[in-house]
Amino acid sequence: MSHCARLALRLPVATTPNMRWMVETGQPRVVPDVSAYPDWVELPGTEWIRSQISAPIRVNGEVIGFLNLDSNVPNRFCDADAEPIQSFANQAAAAIRNADLYDALRQQAEDLERRVEERTAELEQERAQLQTILDTMSEGVIYDEKLSVRYINRALTELTGYRIDEWKGFLEPLRSQSMSSDELQQMVHSLYEGVGSVHKRELRFRRKDGTEFDAHLTCTHVLNSDGDVVGAVTVVRDVSQEKVLERQKAQFVAYASHELRTPITNLKTRLYLMRQQPERMEDHWQILEDVTERMRRLVEDLLDMSRFDRGTISIQRRNVILQPLVRDVVRVQQPEAERKNLTLVCHLPADPLRIFADPERIVQVVTNLVTNAINYTPAGGNVTIDVMPAWDAESGDQSAIIAVEDTGIGIDDMHLPYIFQPFYRVGGTIEGTGLGLSITQQIVELHGGEITVDSVPGQGSTFRVRLPLASVSPMTALSGTGGTFHRP
Ligand code: ADP
Repeated sequence: MSHCARLALRLPVATTPNMRWMVETGQPRVVPDVSAYPDWVELPGTEWIRSQISAPIRVNGEVIGFLNLDSNVPNRFCDADAEPIQSFANQAAAAIRNADLYDALRQQAEDLERRVEERTAELEQERAQLQTILDTMSEGVIYDEKLSVRYINRALTELTGYRIDEWKGFLEPLRSQSMSSDELQQMVHSLYEGVGSVHKRELRFRRKDGTEFDAHLTCTHVLNSDGDVVGAVTVVRDVSQEKVLERQKAQFVAYASHELRTPITNLKTRLYLMRQQPERMEDHWQILEDVTERMRRLVEDLLDMSRFDRGTISIQRRNVILQPLVRDVVRVQQPEAERKNLTLVCHLPADPLRIFADPERIVQVVTNLVTNAINYTPAGGNVTIDVMPAWDAESGDQSAIIAVEDTGIGIDDMHLPYIFQPFYRVGGTIEGTGLGLSITQQIVELHGGEITVDSVPGQGSTFRVRLPLASVSPMTALSGTGGTFHRP
């Protein structure tokens, strides 16, 4: 009876001659009787083997192993057995190769899938970043391909009133009434001239609601890999406000230089006259004082403005009572009101309103509002200052309100949104810098308050300043009533 077994052996090819032979020839080898085989190498665990047949397993021309059949009976195998064993070994080799190929393929597919997932995540992140940038930009953005608009951002919809589904043509929806369709076409073509370059243009645009604005366009071409223009990104910025301010600044510079030159000439004339007419010294003094005061005010406003611009304004806050500050302003402005034949009255509450503020700056705020009221109210009118406490039911915050009301010329609705901007002035007749309200608003906001205005042209204006009341500590509360405070 023959005996076969599975052996788990590692046989060194180099020192096992029949294996080496099979590696070199690729042929099967039959050993009918190991005792008659001079090169037989006996290893521990293989002593029982008497007869053997071996076939190399070749994958891609390389021997990767052997198929061995062992028997304890001599001459159990003969040369005729070699062929079927080799063909079995070949089938095993094919199966192993297929399995290897399949493994490699699966590995590749997994790698590919992972890489696609990673890339998809990267792309998604990039897309989200781009979307956030486009959504949070304050400028409008148009992306077109060959002048056909593919995308507009949120800011452009807010700026123009048009959604992407309402967009026709490239810039056609925004064409101003002052421009013909042909002119717009020419402008668009000039924007698209020159490969790969950036073009800038200023243009007047029309919103969906018919209103118009000055726009600044920056058009950047999008090129394909051959360098052909396939589209463009156009950034649209509303520059109307900048233009208004530019104009006002230019006006202001002209005004300020004129304003400074006139008093300087006046000063020189007066100095000359003072020498010529020493007996009229009093008159000259008065004029010198007025002129220098006007120059001082102008220079102070300019300095304040530039300090606000640079953020270097300093306010010295402390606990103060509001009423005496307002009373001071009224005392100083009363003669001016009388000179203009105006009635200036002031209503102050009996209970002191304590604020945590820079008293000089608060005086500046009230002075600006009262002088404006006096300046913009014709003779015979009234200027009324009302100071009162207020309490916000929702937040529980307590504040002081200073309302300056006049029966003057008022301010048209179209100007109201701009009067707090620096250099903005409605009319050109009354002297002023256009800086007063801007400085006033900034001071009020630095104190955590706010300023609002109601106005009816021809009837008058009311400016209201709200300032938070100082939080009252037990110490100040008691000392305010003259009591003594003992710490427990
Ligand atoms: P200005 O130095 O010109 O008074 P302001 O900044 O104080 O500058 O005010 C800006 C503009 O607001 C003024 O030019 C004026 O047209 C308008 N204005 C301000 N206060 C009043 C008011 N009480 N009544 C009417 N118009 C006012």
